[in-house]
Amino acid sequence: LMGQMMGQPLLISSIIQHADRYFGSNEIVSRRAEGDIHRYNYRECHRRSKKLANALKKLNIKIGDRVGTLAWNGYRHLETYYAVSGSGAVLHTLNPRLHPEQLAYIINHAEDQYLLFDLTFLPIIEAISAHCKTIKGFIMMCDRDRMPTDGKVPGLMCYEDLIAENSEEFEWPLFDENSASSLCYTSGTTGNPKGALYSHRSTVLHSYASAMPDSLNVSARDCVLPVVPMFHVNAWGLPYSVPMTGAKMVFPGPALDGKSLFELFEQEQVTFSAGVPTVWLGLLTYVAQNNLKFSSFKRTVIGGSACPPAMMKTLRHTYGVEVVHAWGMTEMSPLGTAGTLQTKHLSLPEEQKQAVLEKQGHAIYGVDMKIVDDAGKELPWDGSTYGNLLVKGPWVVSSYFKNEGGDVLQDGWFPTGDVATIDADGYLQITDRSKDVIKSGGEWIGTIDLENVAMAHPAVLQAACIGVFHPKWDERPLLLVVKKPGVEVEKQDLIKFYEGKIAKWWTPDDVVFIEALPLGATGKILKNKLREQFKEYKLP
Ligand code: ADP
Repeated sequence: LMGQMMGQPLLISSIIQHADRYFGSNEIVSRRAEGDIHRYNYRECHRRSKKLANALKKLNIKIGDRVGTLAWNGYRHLETYYAVSGSGAVLHTLNPRLHPEQLAYIINHAEDQYLLFDLTFLPIIEAISAHCKTIKGFIMMCDRDRMPTDGKVPGLMCYEDLIAENSEEFEWPLFDENSASSLCYTSGTTGNPKGALYSHRSTVLHSYASAMPDSLNVSARDCVLPVVPMFHVNAWGLPYSVPMTGAKMVFPGPALDGKSLFELFEQEQVTFSAGVPTVWLGLLTYVAQNNLKFSSFKRTVIGGSACPPAMMKTLRHTYGVEVVHAWGMTEMSPLGTAGTLQTKHLSLPEEQKQAVLEKQGHAIYGVDMKIVDDAGKELPWDGSTYGNLLVKGPWVVSSYFKNEGGDVLQDGWFPTGDVATIDADGYLQITDRSKDVIKSGGEWIGTIDLENVAMAHPAVLQAACIGVFHPKWDERPLLLVVKKPGVEVEKQDLIKFYEGKIAKWWTPDDVVFIEALPLGATGKILKNKLREQFKEYKLP
């Protein structure tokens, strides 16, 4: 017997339609690549998205065609999100921090038809346009006055001209909710990048789930500033979940330094934000150096790499900002888990609450997870047994775009490449990425724990731990440290700092002070680069 409810497909266009009808006057504020602040609202955003959709139609973009973007977080990028996916085409967000050669590879692999870009990225476009075989035209996201006249990029169009020339009368098409909506490539630290191809259904379900109170908890009373870029797994879904809830949206554009962010937080009275730990490092350093306080900031989600407990404590205790530690990956749209407390935790002493919050959290409804040993046997949820983490759910990839990498699932589960524990309450703790784990004398040492200890030392700005060759133990941990400016510390002090905090044999064998850690295109520490750099390092 079938249910008798309407079979309305879950389409991305319905989100901006909803935001227009029910939250039309709620604001979207953007710091533009041009440098100024732009404001309008959901109604105007929807109106301009439809104009852009008409422009794409005239350019002969069809359902399933790929349209690329190379852009910061901003209102034009948001319009593109809705115009492209809403028309049935596939939004392919490109990460401008990738090497131009890699960008061209991804554009050709995705067979992008058009590419929209912010004016900051004109030099990249000039460098790669000749290598982009499938691109029929480039659209620069600015007004006519800022368009270059040197003709270096053939077929260059002006975004604001397209908006001005086209009608706002547009009916969002209806199609199968399982149709592709957007495409995001993994950063490809090993081998060529692979594409995660999301669908309308997966995106809408992910948006519902990620807005729930024990996920990101976004509501119409929030003012949300996504620091996480719209070119990194769709800014963790915020361009969908925020309009869905009607919250005010604030886009930081290219200005991601501590000062610019702090000013925007205050000026727009931001309540909620999201980003990787390295971003908070910059913001917190600026706030501390200038003795500032946040007046409206209440909650942030931190993920993408492990949030150091010291950073979480500073945010919670010094600034009164609640931290939701989340874990996910490009292949999961990206949200998998979020760390929040349950009723039974509320009466616990502060340190125990903090310990719960430091983990990556529980699976959000829709995601299921398990840990297995190398033979695939499921391991217990006791909070100490660690194994390979597998996930499944309606917003987890079943294969990569163009079947790159072949069959990736193991008995219907996606292997994440992460090593983790799960406790009796279902809270996940990531020990490491399997390729970063240090293998010492046949035993495993998780580098996240080692880094978290170092990050709690008052002289340490950033820390990374890698395994280096050891004649007896195969590998031993080497700690690489970036010191806080103007603060001194000796190797021995740092090694002593580990006493009583971790198993003795986990203690790093040596410490090297370096100027900066190499960061990848998504702000994560590039451990493979560090391993390469310290390949010949002789431990004492
Ligand atoms: P990439 O592989 O392109 O860097 P993702 O952004 O998809 O891309 O990264 C996913 C990986 O990031 C996860 O598999 C995990 O190793 C790491 N990660 C994400 N969030 C966390 C977290 N909260 N704690 C520890 N590791 C995390």
